[in-house]
Amino acid sequence: MGGAYDTHGYTVDPFMDVAHPNTASLIVNVPYRCLLAKGIEGILVTGLGMSAHRDALPLVRIQPDMQNMGYATGTAAAVAAKTGTLVRNIDLSQLQKHLVEIGNLPAKVPGQSDSYPLPADQVAAAVAALPKRPLAASVLFAQKDEALPLLKKAYAAAAESDRLSYALVLAMMDDPTGTETLLAEVQGAKRWDAGWNYKGMGQFGRAMSPLDVCVVALGRTHDRRAVPVLVEKLRLLSAADAFSHHRAIGLALETLGDPAAAAPLAELLARPGIAGHVHGTLATAVQSETPGGTNSEQTRRESIRELLLARALFHCGDREGLGRKILESYTHDLRGHLARHAQAVLDAAQVMSRGRPAPNGEGIQKTE
Ligand SMILES: Cc1cc2nc3c(=O)[nH]c(=O)nc-3n(C[C@H](O)[C@H](O)[C@H](O)COP(=O)(O)OP(=O)(O)OC[C@H]3O[C@@H](n4cnc5c(N)ncnc54)[C@H](O)[C@@H]3O)c2cc1C
Repeated sequence: MGGAYDTHGYTVDPFMDVAHPNTASLIVNVPYRCLLAKGIEGILVTGLGMSAHRDALPLVRIQPDMQNMGYATGTAAAVAAKTGTLVRNIDLSQLQKHLVEIGNLPAKVPGQSDSYPLPADQVAAAVAALPKRPLAASVLFAQKDEALPLLKKAYAAAAESDRLSYALVLAMMDDPTGTETLLAEVQGAKRWDAGWNYKGMGQFGRAMSPLDVCVVALGRTHDRRAVPVLVEKLRLLSAADAFSHHRAIGLALETLGDPAAAAPLAELLARPGIAGHVHGTLATAVQSETPGGTNSEQTRRESIRELLLARALFHCGDREGLGRKILESYTHDLRGHLARHAQAVLDAAQVMSRGRPAPNGEGIQKTE
């Protein structure tokens, strides 16, 4: 399966922040286990419901992919029924043979095996290649535990010009080794670079600028020295600036969760055009003066920006209840995904304040 990487909105995985396939056409294999339901026998899940990271879905969701996968799933189910076997125990080589015969799978697939875990020499080669070939980061994020010690060594030995590549990947793995490099990079940028504005349809390529990525990474060093440096960048922002800068600042500050960032975040939310984009009633949606109304890119951009900043404020300890107030208002938004997200942030905070992990083990600071 595969195709051009058309994301409809922004990606969320740290790998996509440090290296992005842009418009490259990619081919991916879907293991049979993506269709199996964990803990339940006798069920196969096909189509959009299969198990995949949300950033991987653009590569497997196109209609011919869905049709091929639907055929393969139906055949697997029929084999299980006919042979009295559990769907997770059917003879996969026979299924693959049939799928190759009818042109559903390429002929090379039956000879292939699972690629994980990747061999140690491949991880070492990816560490060495990183400054010249950022996409090598895919191997590093796939095998973090093996990559981390090698990355730390490479950072220490790297030429000045190569340090940033290593510092970024280390920080995205929540390792602080490259903090000095990231502090210098963000502090050295006196103004924001060209950012990315929220785009729904036809979104190809990066959703963050180079400075946005450094900002997010700096947050993930978990070093408090980052707070004043990030606040300096926040103070340059207004509603006219790109969505990605607001998102990067929100992500970085909420990761740090430092109360010192609460007042600047509240000030940013009070700037003209930043807050007040809840679409809580049909009347609001209909009255929207933006062409396209509630579903237009601009209204989505404004609302998601407000939600991200309010969430960051809330996670930094809040300021006169403003973050909570905005999140609560979004729980009534007509756009269900925004309402559910706001509610999930509030629920997770409540669960954590009672000293229990969030439902399904999901941490609120990890989202988006
Ligand atoms: C706006 C948009 C534009 C797209 N453009 C393209 C394009 O140009 N080209 C392309 O190839 N792909 C495109 N896609 C992607 C593609 O259409 C989808 O990925 C694909 O249709 C998904 O197939 P599916 O069978 O997994 O899910 P769906 O097509 O969503 O089918 C799921 C079905 O299950 C039904 N259902 C849900 N719950 C229940 C229930 N409890 N009981 C019974 N039935 C239920 C639903 O009503 C639905 O009919 C687009 C998708 C969208 C949303």
